Amino acid sequence: MGLLERLADVQRRIRLAAERVNRNPEEIKLIPVSKYHSIEKIQTLLKAGIYDFGESRVQELREKQSQLPKDVNWHLIGHLQRNKVKYVVRMPNCKLIHSVDNLRLVQEIQRRCELEDTTMDILVQVNVANDDAKFGILSGEALEFVKKVAEFDRVKVKGLMTIVPEVDDPEEVRPYFRRLKELSEEIRKAAIPGVEMAELSMGMTNDFEVAIEEGATMVRIGSAIFGPRK
Ligand SMILES: *Cc1c(COP(=O)(O)O)cnc(C)c1O
Repeated sequence: MGLLERLADVQRRIRLAAERVNRNPEEIKLIPVSKYHSIEKIQTLLKAGIYDFGESRVQELREKQSQLPKDVNWHLIGHLQRNKVKYVVRMPNCKLIHSVDNLRLVQEIQRRCELEDTTMDILVQVNVANDDAKFGILSGEALEFVKKVAEFDRVKVKGLMTIVPEVDDPEEVRPYFRRLKELSEEIRKAAIPGVEMAELSMGMTNDFEVAIEEGATMVRIGSAIFGPRK
């Protein structure tokens, strides 16, 4: 299959997964993850009407965004170091940081936003699987963390994100997706001023259909669209 055929296949699978649980497929944003893949491939997807892309590393994101139209919506999905925050905040079309998981990072986002007189939308990354190898706030600490983030007026919480362990059978990670959804409901009920729980960024190539069945509003899909990474 070529790139556009793989895209169409993923879009079809998203639609079917949504329909299985009576969700409107329009509620689910596909974010192709273009890390390690070429500008040319991204341009092909742009022509097919895809305008959201995920990147893991700030350096690669900067290089790509400088060569592509300004109406692309970039999503930073990888771990963010404080010394890179300035580049992200200065990039007007970096729409969302999916991977915020510590207060020192939040402080730096706030500080850089003040300098640039702007705001930044973020998701809180939660380590629902309690996986030592993964970044993220533990589930039990997520509500308190979100309350603290809400004190920073330029950092806008839009929802939660998680990365679950890679397993052979995606059914194994269904409970983690369900837990993230429950957590977002708990946080929504707390009605923290300035905090929205609109987005649940969960599901990758291996498990996006299960994630959609459990309530994902954003799926981050790399290899199923772009093929294997080098
Ligand atoms: C690389 C990456 C993805 C995409 O992974 P695939 O398995 O290729 O779909 C999604 N989310 C994050 C955070 C990633 O780093």
